[in-house]
Amino acid sequence: MGSGQWIMEKRSSLRNDSFSRDNDNVPETGCLSIIVLGASGDLAKKKTFPALFNLYRQGFLQSNEVHIFGYARTKISDDELRNRIRGYLINDKSAPGQSEQVSEFLQLIKYVSGSYDTEEGFQLLDKEISAHESSKNSLEGSSRRLFYFALPPSVYPSVSRMIKKCCMNRSDLGGWTRIVVEKPFGKDLDSSEKLSAQIGELFEEPQIYRIDHYLGKELVQNLLVLRFANRMFLPLWNRDNIDNVQIVFREDFGTEGRGGYFDEYGIIRDIIQNHLLQVRENNTDMKKVLCDEEVVLGQYDGYRDDPTVPDHSNTPTFATAVLRIHNERWEGKKQGRNEFVIRLQPSEAMYMKLTVKQPGLEMSTAQSELDLSYRQRYQGVTIPEAYERLILDTIRGDQQHFVRRDELKAAWEIFTPLLHRIDDGEMKPLPYKPGSRGPAEADELLSKVGYVQT
Ligand code: NDP
Repeated sequence: MGSGQWIMEKRSSLRNDSFSRDNDNVPETGCLSIIVLGASGDLAKKKTFPALFNLYRQGFLQSNEVHIFGYARTKISDDELRNRIRGYLINDKSAPGQSEQVSEFLQLIKYVSGSYDTEEGFQLLDKEISAHESSKNSLEGSSRRLFYFALPPSVYPSVSRMIKKCCMNRSDLGGWTRIVVEKPFGKDLDSSEKLSAQIGELFEEPQIYRIDHYLGKELVQNLLVLRFANRMFLPLWNRDNIDNVQIVFREDFGTEGRGGYFDEYGIIRDIIQNHLLQVRENNTDMKKVLCDEEVVLGQYDGYRDDPTVPDHSNTPTFATAVLRIHNERWEGKKQGRNEFVIRLQPSEAMYMKLTVKQPGLEMSTAQSELDLSYRQRYQGVTIPEAYERLILDTIRGDQQHFVRRDELKAAWEIFTPLLHRIDDGEMKPLPYKPGSRGPAEADELLSKVGYVQT
């Protein structure tokens, strides 16, 4: 068995068999229709269409089998949509000849305008998709339909209903229909469960791809290879040798005019409950109750000066929380330490802090690093964008890098009681200086649970 396959199997067992295909007879070649819903929006032009172009450029999407449909309410022509997208595909750094490839790619795109809650638009969309399918397929209907929701979650339920009613691949001859949905998946446990139930009534779990783009990042994907393809780490990766895992996310800029959006969510909903929790092993083994003494919240000085943020906002822009894992591999035991750092972004790197002899005549020790910085080691190699990988995984029916429904529920169970107390104003964030490490109380918490900054 190749190590790649073995790693996939490991991931699948770690994530409770998340790796599944929705149909054993799935045709991996043949007519593919990719429908970008909300094609007029920000995510579509900045991420979805560029990711599709990069897949096309690298030969993963073939012009003889793929067609891309943009769908939204805005009334624009095919060419107007293509021109909007073109601006995001060509820039100063574009390779020679890219402009020609971009033009070929844009010809694959057709735009359909319609609303998100009436059948008319979706019937028209279905007609366009079917016309494309019958022009490409000898067997009408044995086709793949991928619906990408680049939309606000408020319209996910109605759009799901319309797709189910009007746009499914209806053939008995095979093929599939899959939907890709973007975060936020709810605002707390109840709203997330409600959304999951609404979509779950219409689609089977193997048809639903919940994107958390952190799972598409190069170094997040490398975690499993690192852990299971290196014999050295296998016996070490447990409570006997690892005292704690710190997942740290820092940004060196403020709300930059998006304060209104951010204030509704806060740092826990925006980053921690989803992206950071996904980077770790298995949410379902996490202790579900966070204790107040092991949470520090902060709000940076000047946050409320943003005119889009309410004057009395209680929203945290900083949070440190201690989470405990209840399973045999991790529970209990404390040890002295080395430090192994995996930097996901920016400047991908892995380095291990070791104690070595200080070079020189004296026998003294110093901390140093075994350093694998990707920029130096893999010069000239382009690291693919997370969205590129994840769309390709969806086409291939590989769900291992997507968020499962039970994981999502477990993540919300951990944070919902805390979030409700913040929303009700019972827990207040502490002030801290922008650009600092956050409130001093956060470092005090880390040292209280045994971590000493070196
Ligand atoms: P937009 O606000 O740009 O919305 C996308 C499109 O949806 C709009 O062009 C509009 O199209 C339609 N739309 C907007 N508001 C409404 C509404 N209230 N009711 C019905 N339709 C509406 O969102 P984004 O593109 O920024 O984001 C899409 C999804 O992706 C969201 O869930 C977001 O949270 C998520 N996301 C976005 C990221 C980003 O970088 N932008 C990053 C990560 C996730 P029209 O009026 O033409 O129908």
